[in-house]
Amino acid sequence: QVLNEFLHLKGNIRVFCRIRPTVNGEKLSLQRPVVPVDSSSILINFAENKRKLYNFDTVLHPGSTQDEVFSEIEPVIKSALDGYNVCILAYGQTGTGKTFTMEGNPDCPGVVPRTIEALFKQAADSNHTYLFSFSMLEIYLGQLKDLLIPHARKTDPMPPCLSIQTDSNGGIVIDNLVTIQVSNFNHAIGLYRLGSQLRSTASTNSNKVSSRSHCMIRVSMTCYDATKRRKTTNKIWMVDLGGSERVLKTKAWGRRFEEGKAINLSLSALGDVINALQRKNKHIPYRNSKLTQVLKDSLGEDSKTLMLVHVSPKEEDLCETICSLNFALRLR
Ligand code: ADP
Ligand code: MG
Repeated sequence: QVLNEFLHLKGNIRVFCRIRPTVNGEKLSLQRPVVPVDSSSILINFAENKRKLYNFDTVLHPGSTQDEVFSEIEPVIKSALDGYNVCILAYGQTGTGKTFTMEGNPDCPGVVPRTIEALFKQAADSNHTYLFSFSMLEIYLGQLKDLLIPHARKTDPMPPCLSIQTDSNGGIVIDNLVTIQVSNFNHAIGLYRLGSQLRSTASTNSNKVSSRSHCMIRVSMTCYDATKRRKTTNKIWMVDLGGSERVLKTKAWGRRFEEGKAINLSLSALGDVINALQRKNKHIPYRNSKLTQVLKDSLGEDSKTLMLVHVSPKEEDLCETICSLNFALRLR
């Protein structure tokens, strides 16, 4: 039922908004700037008499548990097992909970571990046979880096950057990307931990680079029917996007500025692509960033996209919150 609703919803793109709860003793002003109204809208209080209502497919309130978040996402996992390419993207300013949503922590696992668990579980319950494989990469300063090849950002020489090719069916192939066949949940999660560790080790060396790179997890799957004939080959991407804060406002300079600029450019390219898809434009500007080139065959007609826009509850973040909400508006 839920699945059908999703499939027949206008377009293949759904936009959710998750509002971070207050953490570490943060205090909010009496007139809260960001107010969840119901399960699909948020009220923004700009000033005393200035308000605006923003609508989404779903609003995840500050009190939402990881369980509740995942239950909203689960229909796309069924879509993936049915052969669709799927993208789950976490968007938002740094500190709004993208990594919490996607990765979570041991007590509150996020979308990535839950998705992997659900894929194996649902595959085991199905009449078909599935083969899964796992890859993980990041896009940093417009370059693709394999996160399953041990490297530290400071090692010299850097591992070669990966390049993107298109196969004869229009599918995207990332040359030399390490792709490991995984036979169970623990195997896949072990690789995920390895990749995450690599990302965070590198980031302590150079000051939380993680917020200025996109981290992308790909689970590819091949489905065989009862006669062992191949039915479908497809993939699910789970992406923890770089922080969306506008670089010109962050007073960054030098490398930080370049990193921020690269993220800003690729996020706006992503917005442009989804916007063009929603409008059914003839020309879809995939080529404008590495991010959209990688996701080219997973954003579009025969795929399902879930954009999880994250916002802060705090007044001082209101400008970035409004930017994120406006980004989301363009996608619907
Ligand atoms: P981002 O990845 O967007 O920079 P993080 O996921 O690192 O943000 O979140 C920032 C901080 O807020 C972290 O300490 C995280 O644990 C906490 N946090 C974010 N979202 C939630 C949530 N829904 N519930 C509890 N803590 C959260
Ligand atoms: Mg993060």
